[in-house]
Amino acid sequence: MLELRDLTVTYRIAAGEVPAVRGVSLALARGEALGIAGESGSGKSTLAMALLRLLPRDARVSGEILLDGEDVLTMPWGRLRAVRWASASIVFQGAHHALNPVHRIGDQIAEPLLVHGLASPAESRRKVAELLEQVGLPAWRGRSYSHELSGGQRQRVMIAMALACEPHLIVADEPTTALDVMIQAQVLELIRSLIARRGLSLIMISHDLSVLAATCERLAVMYAGRVVETGPSGAVFGDARHPYSRALADAFPLVGDPASRRAPRGLGGDPPDPMDLPSGCSFHPRCPAALPECSTAAVELWPTTDPRHTAACVLVHPETTPRLPHGGAAEDPGSGGAPPQQEPAPHAPGTPASTTVRPEVAP
Ligand code: ADP
Ligand code: MG
Repeated sequence: MLELRDLTVTYRIAAGEVPAVRGVSLALARGEALGIAGESGSGKSTLAMALLRLLPRDARVSGEILLDGEDVLTMPWGRLRAVRWASASIVFQGAHHALNPVHRIGDQIAEPLLVHGLASPAESRRKVAELLEQVGLPAWRGRSYSHELSGGQRQRVMIAMALACEPHLIVADEPTTALDVMIQAQVLELIRSLIARRGLSLIMISHDLSVLAATCERLAVMYAGRVVETGPSGAVFGDARHPYSRALADAFPLVGDPASRRAPRGLGGDPPDPMDLPSGCSFHPRCPAALPECSTAAVELWPTTDPRHTAACVLVHPETTPRLPHGGAAEDPGSGGAPPQQEPAPHAPGTPASTTVRPEVAP
C-alpha cells in the first residue's frame, strides 16, 4: 500500500544544505507494521513528515512516495487534503504541542470528521464518544482541555484523532517517547490492538528497538539519513548484521536518562553532522568492526543469508558473506579481537592494501 522509492529530503538553510534523508526505498503491505529505528537526527521524523508532505518550505524532496499507487509528491493540493487523515494519519511525539490548548479535545477529534464531511455535528459527537472509549478514555473527557489531561491521556487523544477518519495507514512518530515506562506499555498495547482489530498498516518510529520489536513485524534501521538494515524484527533485533543496529539493539535506554537516548550504550561518539558526512560508510568512524576499506567502500543494502534481511555493511557484501562465520563481526563488535577474515572489497586509490586482512586459504 505504501512504497518509497529513492526518497531524498534536503533542507536548505543559511549555512548550506542538510541532507536529512538520502535515497530511502521501503515498502509496506496492507495490515503490516514497520518499525523505523535510529538515533536522534537520523532522519526519521523528516521521513514521516515527507509521507504526507508536511515538511517546511525549505525542504527539497525527490523520489516517489506511492500511497495505494498514487504519488503523494505530485498529488494536487485538493487530493492531498483528502488523503491526509482519510487515507493516512500521523501521531506525533509531543501530544502537548499538537493539541490546541483553547479547544476542547472532543471538538478537536471531531474536526477532521466535519472538515472531510464524514459526519454531521450530531454524528460526530457520537463518533467522538466511541473513539474516546476505544482508546480507553471515558466519553466525558471530550469536554476537557488538553492541560487537564496527563501525558498518557493526551497521547490517547492523539491516537483517537488519528483514527477518526478511519485511515488505512497510521504513522506514529515516537508516540511513547515522552511517557513513563508503565504508560508507554499501555499506549503501545493500545496501538497494537487497534491496528490488529482494524487491519491497519502502521509505521512506528522510535529510537528504542525494543519498543519496535514488540510492535512491528519488520524493522528498518536508519543512520545518517539512510536505511542501513531491514528485515523481520526478530532477525534485526536478535541477529543484527550491521554493527550500528547491533549497538542500538544493545542499548536499552534508561527512562529519564537523556544521555542514553543521545548515545546508546556501548557506542561511542556522536552521529555525524549531515553537512559533513564521512566518506564511504557514514558509520565507519564510530564502527567497532570497521575495516580499512569502510572509509571508501560504496555500501548498499545487501541481502544476508535470509534474503528478506538486508544490511548496508561490507561485512555482508555478497562476495564476503559466505566467508564469514555466523554472525560476522557484528556478533561481538566490542571485543577488540581480529577482524573477521574476508575478501577485500575493491580498493580505492590511496588505500593501503597491506592493511586489509587477506585469507591465505579459503575456509
Ligand atoms: P530524527 O527524527 O531521526 O531525530 P530528523 O528528521 O528530525 O531526525 O532530523 C534529521 C536531520 O535533519 C537532522 O540533522 C536535523 O538537524 C535536520 N533537520 C530537521 N528539521 C530541519 C529543518 N526544518 N531545517 C533544517 N534542518 C532540519
Ligand atoms: Mg524525530
